[in-house]
Amino acid sequence: MTQINVGILGATGMVGQQFIALLSRHPWFKVAWLGASERSAGKKYRDAAAWRLSAPLPDAIADLEVQAAAPSASAPQLVFSGLDSSVAGEIEGAFAQAGHTIVSNSRNYRMEADVPLMIPEVNGGHLALLKVQSQRGWKGRIVTNPNCSTVVLSMALAPLRQFGLSKVTITTLQAISGAGYPGVASWDILGNVIPFIDGEEQKIETETKKILGCFANGRVDPHPVVISAQTTRVAVHDGHTESISVGFDHKPTEEQLLQAWASFKPLDGLPTAPAHPVAYLRERNRPQPALDAHRGDGMTVSVGRLRPCPILDYKFIALGHNTIRGAAGVAILNAELMRREGLL
Ligand code: NAP
Repeated sequence: MTQINVGILGATGMVGQQFIALLSRHPWFKVAWLGASERSAGKKYRDAAAWRLSAPLPDAIADLEVQAAAPSASAPQLVFSGLDSSVAGEIEGAFAQAGHTIVSNSRNYRMEADVPLMIPEVNGGHLALLKVQSQRGWKGRIVTNPNCSTVVLSMALAPLRQFGLSKVTITTLQAISGAGYPGVASWDILGNVIPFIDGEEQKIETETKKILGCFANGRVDPHPVVISAQTTRVAVHDGHTESISVGFDHKPTEEQLLQAWASFKPLDGLPTAPAHPVAYLRERNRPQPALDAHRGDGMTVSVGRLRPCPILDYKFIALGHNTIRGAAGVAILNAELMRREGLL
């Protein structure tokens, strides 16, 4: 597969930086264009961005000039977006109208009926919504990925649908990198837990149903599972931990649940797809963000501590890297699937 040029909107933010790091040696995509706000436009990337990753900033990117976040002839056809959601709706819409394919992390288009909300291993077939979207009159199109905590939950739940998944309760412990940079003030988060993340509980409760839903007759029918979410921000750099209980119509054995996660198949031939989308850890004190967030280069969701739940049927812990599997990594996987399907 030959390399194609790609752009990144919101390139200076936390998610934008992960895009740059993950694409720096990508065999199919080459970063050729960076867009951000008027504060950054016109500056070299190294001067515009506060680079927060341990991976070094590639020299070729550091010297690129950041552009204004508006469609232009210099922007490549495929553009990833890590824009702040306060501006993503208008800007991504303008790019799609102008003929670009936007692969977005922002919430603005996720729940629109004709927009795929995708995790390739879970619901790659929802790409069929693009045929419906083509009726909008845009010259381009928009594909989205879920909110970061929703990605982790949906991957842990997807293999369990076969047992008649009916009820889920979830409490999250979310990393500070999920709030962007500079994010939460150190005064607020150090030695503390913040029991409120604006809009997060509703995103988990609605996006998960769309992702786990079935595509038929030109639309996605949401999965009937009922979800109750509580979300907290904790003093962890990277990795969202989730405490999950599940109820089923046909209660499986613990062994059947373990088998379901173990047989969750990887996607063959996509460069960013991990060998194990979900890994079950048998140690009784895992998964932990400090030890497990980078499993599978940040693309594997780790699950552990499966045990009976006295209220629903079972409970367990799940963990995923929020800016990789929960954001830039899953977006890149979406674009890889589109390229393989001949959509790019
Ligand atoms: P962030 O660090 O605050 O970065 C926001 C980006 O948006 C920056 O590049 C910023 O550019 C740009 N921006 C802000 N205002 C703009 C404007 N008026 N015009 C053009 N660009 C503008 O946020 P983030 O954490 O990377 O999140 C980005 C998006 O991904 C959000 O929608 C978020 O909800 C979503 N998301 C984040 C995560 C996560 O774990 N962090 C996970 C999933 C999804 P400047 O630097 O020039 O201001």
